[in-house]
Amino acid sequence: MFMSEISFYNTLGRRIEKFKPLEKDSVKIYSCGPTVYNYVHLGNIRAYVFVDLLKRYLRYRGYKVEHVMNITDVDDKTIRDSQKSGKTLKEFTDFYLQAFIDDLQVMNILLPDVMPKATDHMSEIVDLVEKLTKNGYTYRSGDSVYYKISQFKNYGELAQLDKQILKSNASGRLNDKDEYEKEQVNDFVLWKAWQPEDGEVYWQTRIGKGRPGWHIECSAMSMKNLGESFDIHCGGVDLIFPHHTNEIAQSEAATGKKFVNYWLHNAHLTVDGQKMAKSLGNFYTLKDLKEKGYDPLLLRFILLKTHYRQTLNFSFSDFDEAKSIVEKFINLLTILDTIKDGGNNDGGVKKELKKIIGSCDEKFIAAMDDDLNVSLALAAVYEFINEVNKIINQMTVGDAELAKDFIDKLDSVLGFVNSFYSKHVFLLSQKINNPQLHEILIKREEARAQKDYAAADELRKEALDLGFIIEDTSDGYRIKIK
Ligand code: AMP
Ligand code: ZN
Repeated sequence: MFMSEISFYNTLGRRIEKFKPLEKDSVKIYSCGPTVYNYVHLGNIRAYVFVDLLKRYLRYRGYKVEHVMNITDVDDKTIRDSQKSGKTLKEFTDFYLQAFIDDLQVMNILLPDVMPKATDHMSEIVDLVEKLTKNGYTYRSGDSVYYKISQFKNYGELAQLDKQILKSNASGRLNDKDEYEKEQVNDFVLWKAWQPEDGEVYWQTRIGKGRPGWHIECSAMSMKNLGESFDIHCGGVDLIFPHHTNEIAQSEAATGKKFVNYWLHNAHLTVDGQKMAKSLGNFYTLKDLKEKGYDPLLLRFILLKTHYRQTLNFSFSDFDEAKSIVEKFINLLTILDTIKDGGNNDGGVKKELKKIIGSCDEKFIAAMDDDLNVSLALAAVYEFINEVNKIINQMTVGDAELAKDFIDKLDSVLGFVNSFYSKHVFLLSQKINNPQLHEILIKREEARAQKDYAAADELRKEALDLGFIIEDTSDGYRIKIK
């Protein structure tokens, strides 16, 4: 009996660990979502595709998955840019939130079960800050509230912060910014007092007039939706410090319980070796891709095929390889869909097919169980395609259904095969009504009936010029789009 267990590389401890969820059959995941002040770039998309792969695979392995991804809809950037645009904060951020959801759908990323907004969670945030104050982890400076990191014994464990840096820096230096460098280990803001440049944006609360810091938002929203302890927390490696480090400090100081068991971080998408980032101006959005004529779902494949912990340098040349892989799937499905019974019905082919499917499933699971080793998993899938192609001419309709069901199952993880194939079938059905093609096909049938193969070949070339590939089969021909 085949047995394999899932293991993940846990940033907390920097080692591969067996995965054991808190509840036997269900997994709770939190991933940091976007700050909705602009369109997301392809680097961000890498982070979201990674979580999507993780979720889909856990479902493939039979787990129920509950996924929460927050929306940061108040911070320095959203306030600054909404003011520039002359819109209210809500109008401004709602626009980019919708653009974000549209992008997720274009990428075939399954939507999170809950997408909480920071601005809808002020009371949870205030409660949490009060709890931290009660437990002795905060102090006030002016009208703002800060977290005192020297009070939290394990501060910096996730980021493996150098004890020396901690000692020399953790002396109550205030930091009002949400993002800062590793060398600056500071106390950080939980609640920012209102300043005139915030304009209309503030909440009048028990802890003062102002707005929350970025880190406290994620602690409040994750624990509200998933409980004080949950299984997996994801994000890009840039979030390990300070964001996730501070989330742990806040949540554990408030509850006294372990916040998260497995921390999974994706590596960066880079451009010429540098992190793709808004601030560096070296980024592309999905809109840029579409304008250049690239199908975003090819990007999905490019992102999927690189292991999530490996840095990936973005290059348009990767799209060609992606296209050729997608064609393998389309060709296979096209042939499976044209099988009209016949074939070898003695059951031998079915037996062989079942063996091919079983072997792929086993290798796929063994690879993905190993910290989502997608390269090996895809190698198993390519082997499956090759093996099926070897017996495809003897397959019956029932065999074809079996193969297609398994492709569907694989695609529940991959998330691009059926989308490409449906698009292909749609385009084909539109194009196939082309009257010139019809004429060519009729003439070609006549030529073949008269065994005039030179004329038939000539007509095949004419079809190719129109964008169609004609392939002869044992019971007629099939047409593909060039
Ligand atoms: P942000 O909007 O900058 O907070 O980023 C949203 C998500 O995208 C976070 O999980 C980041 O870690 C991730 N991210 C940002 N830039 C990149 C990049 N170049 N490559 C991979 N992930 C990134
Ligand atoms: Zn977060």
